[in-house]
Amino acid sequence: MIYLKTDEEIELMRIANRLVGTTLAEVAKNIAPEVTTLQLDKIAEEFIRDHGAIPLFKGYNGFPNALCISVNEQVVHGIPGTTMLKEGDIVSVDCGVKINGYCGDSAYTFEVGEVAAEVKKLLQITKEALYEGISNAVEGKRIGDVGHAIQTYCENRGCSVVRELVGHGIGRNMHEAPEVPNYGKKGCGQLLKSGMCIAIEPMINLGSKNVKFEKDGWTVRTADRKPSAHFEHTVAIRPGKADILSTFEWIDQVLQKTSIYD
Ligand code: MG
Ligand code: MG
Repeated sequence: MIYLKTDEEIELMRIANRLVGTTLAEVAKNIAPEVTTLQLDKIAEEFIRDHGAIPLFKGYNGFPNALCISVNEQVVHGIPGTTMLKEGDIVSVDCGVKINGYCGDSAYTFEVGEVAAEVKKLLQITKEALYEGISNAVEGKRIGDVGHAIQTYCENRGCSVVRELVGHGIGRNMHEAPEVPNYGKKGCGQLLKSGMCIAIEPMINLGSKNVKFEKDGWTVRTADRKPSAHFEHTVAIRPGKADILSTFEWIDQVLQKTSIYD
């Protein structure tokens, strides 16, 4: 069952998603060598609660923390802990909140200090692929168009697309129908209608597409232990152009990047 959101509901979704954007920026300010992922998680949880929201991931199927933090070969769903970040790492931070009954969900992969050129390139390709997907997330297109755009963009640049994990519909619940794979065939799958809200979240590997699930029951890592990147936006389907409800604008401010997208 796919719930189409009213304009009022989409504004509530925007509030939740913008709070995710400011939370990720707060995390960004604190990313540095010798910081632990658990410290980042604490900063985020406090920030989310101070703004009257609930960290969406905490307690979800027993997940213990507010953020999923995945370092280097970890793809997604990493559990924050006492391991320190170090120069040259990449760290994927996935954040979800609920406020006023609606959910926000967005993710960003950060560099810790100076990162190898090929890894920097992976992050750039993954971020660009997200916007390639978003440009296809418009009324009248299909879910397969979104996945196809992401897949071709990444594979044409020598990267691979994780198959086991996908994006999703989002609204009152974090995970609603439909599933949003980062691969697919043009013109196939669910028809996109104005008012649908989906989280698009390419998980892209530098090496092979294969992943392994760690014994902690959560962490997903690349099988070949090469790095993986993850960028995510929540968007509302509209005619002509998607409405991007989450934002990287505050992250870009912290990282002093000029965003060409939002
Ligand atoms: Mg997420
Ligand atoms: Mg998501």
